[in-house]
Amino acid sequence: MNSGGIQSKQAFCISLLPDRRLTGKSLEKQTANCFYRVQWPNPCLKFISFENGVLTLRSTSNDESYTLQLHVRQQKLLVACNCGNDKKTICKHAYWTLNDIHWKFGETYFTKFTAHGMMELAFKYPMHFDKQESNAGINVFPRVELKSIYQLAPATPMPDIETILKLPEPIVKANSLPSPMFPLSAQIPGGKAMVYLIMIAYRYDQLPSVIPVTGQPTVKGNTIKAFDSFTSGLQKANTTSLNNEQKILQEKCLRLYKLTEKIGGELLTDKLFSKHLDELSAIFQEWAELYLMLQAQPFVFTHMLFNKKQLRQKPKRNYWLQVMLSASVPVLSFVVTDKGDHYRFTMQAHIDGVLLENFETNTPLFITQCSELIFRLGCLRDACLVEWINRSGDRITIFKEHFEAFQKEVLEPLQRHYTISFA
Ligand SMILES: [Zn+2]
Repeated sequence: MNSGGIQSKQAFCISLLPDRRLTGKSLEKQTANCFYRVQWPNPCLKFISFENGVLTLRSTSNDESYTLQLHVRQQKLLVACNCGNDKKTICKHAYWTLNDIHWKFGETYFTKFTAHGMMELAFKYPMHFDKQESNAGINVFPRVELKSIYQLAPATPMPDIETILKLPEPIVKANSLPSPMFPLSAQIPGGKAMVYLIMIAYRYDQLPSVIPVTGQPTVKGNTIKAFDSFTSGLQKANTTSLNNEQKILQEKCLRLYKLTEKIGGELLTDKLFSKHLDELSAIFQEWAELYLMLQAQPFVFTHMLFNKKQLRQKPKRNYWLQVMLSASVPVLSFVVTDKGDHYRFTMQAHIDGVLLENFETNTPLFITQCSELIFRLGCLRDACLVEWINRSGDRITIFKEHFEAFQKEVLEPLQRHYTISFA
């Protein structure tokens, strides 16, 4: 075999899409002149080797076998068969082999064959990939512990880091928080208390909002044993029994709820970024003010929001959790850890200079610890980065072959605003 792969003149050439996909429609179109399409049914493909980017398969049908070589070079798929075909048209062995591969592995299969692509790295670093041989040849998959793999298998689309970094700096600095505006009064007539439920939407349908409801405190008065329905908190009219501060809070909650209701809950979608940046900024500002007030409230809970029907009922025990709101704003930084054949990219958070261990990133606009301690992120920019890290499984793997690109796309821009340490 030639060390540079298959030469163009030795092979039939099929154009791939810019992202190296081969659609069934495109295969049909490019092989339309092939006159022996129906004569090589159901080939059995045996994997022979993968060397220098060339996949060699044995293709067998009706007791006849041929050796096929497939090589992706730039946007072309070169296909060679040892049947002696003149290469001007595709031979039936190659056509039916490609058709079979497309049927069994899908149109993205050949995206794995680029230089430094999944197939190459699977053979170079076998401990990080699973290889599956079958009568369709071979397929490779990264091991789950790698989580999101830069360029090879990102768990979420790569966000535009430069655009995120153009978002404003923290609105409220950690050391400039004014003291809470409101006293600890949660009491309302009838022995009940005001409770503020931070609604966390399931599947990121909506950004977190707050619904105030009334509840029955326990005898000790440190928590709530029973809640009234959500509806009272979402109706402006029902404020007669509240004191002035509680009314202001109620109005702020209602305003925030309405703002969050209008847009989705994923910060990094194009839609939110391009069309709703003003609304996002307004939500962030509302949260900044509301959070400060809620810090002084004794009864703040989180509650899962699955659908709007829930709001016609009472809060449910399995979905609520009493929480504490920290006054400290997390300072985010990043760590690049050298793991030998790859790097691991993770996020860190410091609270008043102390590293926050085991924090969670699954609540938009916040980070949490043990779900019970809440930290509001200092700016929308931080919130976007936290969402990206969360969707990446809290860890991004970068094989050394892709590190230069990662440095340029991610580390260099990030470094202008965040500390990045190398371990
Ligand atoms: Zn052939």
